[in-house]
Amino acid sequence: MEQTLALVKPDAFARKDEVVLKVVSAGFTVEKSAELQLTPARAAQFYAEHAGKPFLDDLCNFMCSGRVLAMVLSKEGAIKAWRELMGPTDSVAARSTAPDSMRALFGTDKQKNACHGSDSPEAAAREIAFFFPPSGEIPDLATGAAQAAPME
Ligand code: GDP
Ligand code: MG
Repeated sequence: MEQTLALVKPDAFARKDEVVLKVVSAGFTVEKSAELQLTPARAAQFYAEHAGKPFLDDLCNFMCSGRVLAMVLSKEGAIKAWRELMGPTDSVAARSTAPDSMRALFGTDKQKNACHGSDSPEAAAREIAFFFPPSGEIPDLATGAAQAAPME
């Protein structure tokens, strides 16, 4: 079964239970989940593909503005299915083109858009390992990897 990495970003963290309900209703299995606080360095590491973009600093500050919920979701075609359920990047656009999507329902604009989802199998593997390092791996105290507290 394909797996993908989903985040509920700080702007939607207070509504994470509603997000999870919709995730489960859409047929995903939540394989792992953890609530955690990102640091700016760790957020920049996560968004390394956007290095040099003008919005990166704002994005990292936003991602550190509160806790996030990280989840490993599984389903047939999970990567594409979760991207579809999230909707387009800009929550304003999402409200007209995909009104039932997570970003339309729980996000605000192009930055504060409620959710993240891996965009390829390679990204999913990297992002899952980023938040849920394989067991036995020594936690990286500098970045906070493997320090995610399990959800009660
Ligand atoms: P995604 O794959 O749909 O999340 O979009 P991207 O990979 O292009 O961008 C990563 C994240 O950066 C988005 O989810 C937004 O939170 C943020 N973002 C993207 N584009 C912009 C932008 O033009 N301005 C700002 N402020 N944030 C952006
Ligand atoms: Mg992306």
